[in-house]
Amino acid sequence: MVFVKRRKCKHCGRSFAIGARHPNQKYCTQKQCQRARKNDWQRRKLASDEDYRGNQAACKANWSKRNTGYWKQYRKKNPEYAQRNREKQRKRNFNRRQRSDRPIASGLAKMDAKNGQRALISGYYKLIPVTDIPVANMEPIIVSIHETVYPENSL
Ligand SMILES: [Zn+2]
Repeated sequence: MVFVKRRKCKHCGRSFAIGARHPNQKYCTQKQCQRARKNDWQRRKLASDEDYRGNQAACKANWSKRNTGYWKQYRKKNPEYAQRNREKQRKRNFNRRQRSDRPIASGLAKMDAKNGQRALISGYYKLIPVTDIPVANMEPIIVSIHETVYPENSL
């Protein structure tokens, strides 16, 4: 008698047969579930691996350089996509404003206003040394800056 082990897919929740070669398989073989698996892997990798994060940011920046205007074109061709994104961003902005007690961020915002600089936005930045001595041919370092909202009482 052969027993086929089954497990619930982490993404779609359907039961699937676990392959003998992949005893730890958590996702079924459907396309969207495999995509979810990959996204999940990447999200965790980005959160835990600084080198990977840097590489990804550099790749992204490089690609953008080679494909200037791609996203602008894409949004033009897919207005419903752009609209959905705008709504999602609006929601994110709203949620961020709801989290009112942000000592670090609010301090930064004030400082920025005083210096006449834009407030810090989470995302990728090109880091260029500010120095009187000219740095020869230095490529900007691409860094990813993400605002961390600390829970109350943690500081
Ligand atoms: Zn599935």
